[in-house]
Amino acid sequence: MKVPYNYLPYEFCDVEEIIDEWRVLIKTTEFTIGRYVTSFENKFASYLGVSHCVATNNGTDALILALKSLGIGSGDEVITVTNTFYATVGAIVAVGAKPVFVDSDDRYQIDAAKVSSAITDNTKAVIPVHWAGASPNIHKIQEICSSAGIYMVEDACMGIGATLNGKRAGTFGKVNAFSMHPLKSLNVMGDGGMVVTNDDEIATWIRKYRNHGMSDRNHIDFWGVNMRLQPLQAVVASRGLDEIEGVVKKRNLNAEILDIGLSDLGSNVTIPERKKGFVETYALYMALFDQRECLREHLTKHGIETRIHYPIPLHLQAAAKSLHYKVGDFPVSERQAQQLITIPVHQYIDDQQLGYTIGKIHEFYKQ
Ligand SMILES: *Cc1c(COP(=O)(O)O)cnc(C)c1O
Repeated sequence: MKVPYNYLPYEFCDVEEIIDEWRVLIKTTEFTIGRYVTSFENKFASYLGVSHCVATNNGTDALILALKSLGIGSGDEVITVTNTFYATVGAIVAVGAKPVFVDSDDRYQIDAAKVSSAITDNTKAVIPVHWAGASPNIHKIQEICSSAGIYMVEDACMGIGATLNGKRAGTFGKVNAFSMHPLKSLNVMGDGGMVVTNDDEIATWIRKYRNHGMSDRNHIDFWGVNMRLQPLQAVVASRGLDEIEGVVKKRNLNAEILDIGLSDLGSNVTIPERKKGFVETYALYMALFDQRECLREHLTKHGIETRIHYPIPLHLQAAAKSLHYKVGDFPVSERQAQQLITIPVHQYIDDQQLGYTIGKIHEFYKQ
């Protein structure tokens, strides 16, 4: 049996309706911003329950825009977690600020209890990441940020469809970022992103900066850039948003089957706590496994594709050299990096494939 990690061939096996919509779009020749992008922005805003959504060409740019819109730049420090996708930190560096890392907790999320001690006089923001589509203790981090007088910027790139006690991920911070990369819960056929905020002034600035700083065709208010979402992708994203609840529901059902099936393996397998009242997107289904490399080989041999997110925590990457971190600085992340496996949990995996995966993991530890 095959248990594929990549779901895109299934998701996009029938694209006739999308292509039909594209034909109409192409006739309008509205290839930059225009009604398709605006209508998706409005739809996303009402889905989240926020005032402003500005669509960008990817999640990295959404993060850069978020930080820039808050005036964060050279000389500033921004706190984030050491196990996230490169772009969280890349965005901090791209605006000229200095990334400051915090360890993860047992749920692979930024450890809220360790945020306060990372704050200095230069700290301007904390970026909690909804890593894997689960959520950190946003409420606690929000409290810390407001009492320190700094911003919270959520990296909700994997979190479209996640909720915390009924409120959507990416609606807590001052300005927040989402991605619609093919491997996120809501995905397009290429790149896409979104910045969201409830602040009118910030939204106006973001909208202009994304589009060269233009107030109209012949006038610019300041120097901006081009970070616009492609209308062709807005069509795909809009359809994806119609499906997102079903996708997240199926992923949650699959994750629950894996959680239960792997719960009797004692100390060989550690499944993270599933917080009551939090809905995860399961962009990634991760757990800690003893003898990781051998287990992965066993699973690969039996047609089960897995990944590791990621084998090297960010503070130990060559890119982080000038920050002078060392092995042992973030022991929780470092241990997780050595034991994590990401298992297919997507909406095209059925009960049989899940049972097969669970069976093969049991088989390995019985040997
Ligand atoms: C994917 C991702 C990003 C970057 O999004 P892109 O659309 O690929 O630029 C940033 N942060 C996290 C946590 C992500 O998962």
